Amino acid sequence: MADCIFCMIANHEIPSNVAYEDDQIIAFHDLDPQAPVHVLVIPKKHIASLDDVKEEDRELMGHIMFKIHEIATDLELENGYRVVSNNGEDAFQTVKHLHFHILGKRKLTWPPG
Ligand code: AMP
Ligand code: ZN
Repeated sequence: MADCIFCMIANHEIPSNVAYEDDQIIAFHDLDPQAPVHVLVIPKKHIASLDDVKEEDRELMGHIMFKIHEIATDLELENGYRVVSNNGEDAFQTVKHLHFHILGKRKLTWPPG
């Protein structure tokens, strides 16, 4: 999708620090990390948020969830990590392309802010 920064990252039109990539998804390090490890996992297909996931995206969504564990293992997050997807205004979703934050390598507080 034009003007979507994460589509541009998925298409390698702008640089990112890639942690994992295949034909369906890309994971890259967040520019403004909120933990020692902070990686974003996104589908290459433009989906604005979880609210925009369609029936046809079932397999892709399963693939993302399946790969998160593998990516976390590669990032050596054996002590634990958090997966977050901010959706919509109340959650302060700033980039309107579905993404899952993987945060780790520090004790994470709960509840989140
Ligand atoms: P959210 O607030 O959940 O929409 O998260 C968007 C995240 O994308 C924020 O943590 C930003 O720091 C991150 N971000 C925005 N632009 C880039 C970029 N070009 N490369 C890496 N991370 C980015
Ligand atoms: Zn996009």
